[in-house]
Amino acid sequence: MGTYAMTGGATGIGAAIRKHLENAGHRLIVVDLKDADINADLSSEAGRAEALNGIKSQAGEGLDGFIACAGVSGSVPVKPLIPSVNYFGAVELVEGLRELLAARRGSVVLISSNSAPMDTRADYVDTLLAGDEAAARTVAEDTDGHALYSGSKQALARWMRRNTQAYAAEGIRLNAVAPGYTRTPMTEAVAKDPAYADAIQQFLDSIPLKRAGEPEDMAKAVSYLLSDDASFVCGSVLFVDGGHDAMLRPDSF
Ligand code: NAD
Repeated sequence: MGTYAMTGGATGIGAAIRKHLENAGHRLIVVDLKDADINADLSSEAGRAEALNGIKSQAGEGLDGFIACAGVSGSVPVKPLIPSVNYFGAVELVEGLRELLAARRGSVVLISSNSAPMDTRADYVDTLLAGDEAAARTVAEDTDGHALYSGSKQALARWMRRNTQAYAAEGIRLNAVAPGYTRTPMTEAVAKDPAYADAIQQFLDSIPLKRAGEPEDMAKAVSYLLSDDASFVCGSVLFVDGGHDAMLRPDSF
């Protein structure tokens, strides 16, 4: 059985991924803010270094996979957290774990979002792809949180596509899952607010499969991408959203 590292395994989609992989007999090394194997704050350079050192000390023999799942929503009060956690907290960990992943021809799954193709600020996405965290945080101060969120998830998918070839040369498969609306602590916090209840119900009604996603729906997709069943799937963004992206962008793929 394999050894996998992941971020954001304490709640929601991450907890379901962890459970799914552990039930299949794999060993998981989880990074999160608390209640994890490695407690670290991925919004800072120091926290990311702590996470990387912790994973390296627990998986010296190599990694069969890594899942970057930690993230914050567009409603978070401190907006610079959105680029720092969602983008840099994912990309810097993949880069830092590259050698351990190559040692076992491992597989990486980034958790993007089906909001990634939506409108955002192109200049903000450019700062992310350029690796300029300070500039991205500055833009974040005066930009709508939802645009920051979708931009962070777009940049993540584009980073994955841009790096697919280089990582594949080392035997590492990079892929992303783009979840649609999924019932987790992140979305439940907003759903409980009466100001949003009607809009959320309308949104849910517009999903072709007529339901919200469950964390287990995402865990099954991630598990597939990590497994040998997906041995030739490389550089793909898998939309797991009940048909929402296809409905909104029927001619794009
Ligand atoms: P969640 O809030 O339940 O889980 C997020 C996890 O990330 C938590 O365990 C949290 O502690 C961790 N985290 C947040 N900030 C962190 C930090 N600074 N350092 C370390 N860990 C941190 O939310 P979720 O809905 O399960 O989201 C999981 C992933 O799925 C996120 O990347 C999210 O953007 C993405 N996503 C969620 C939805 C949805 O509808 N729920 C849709 C698309 C994408």
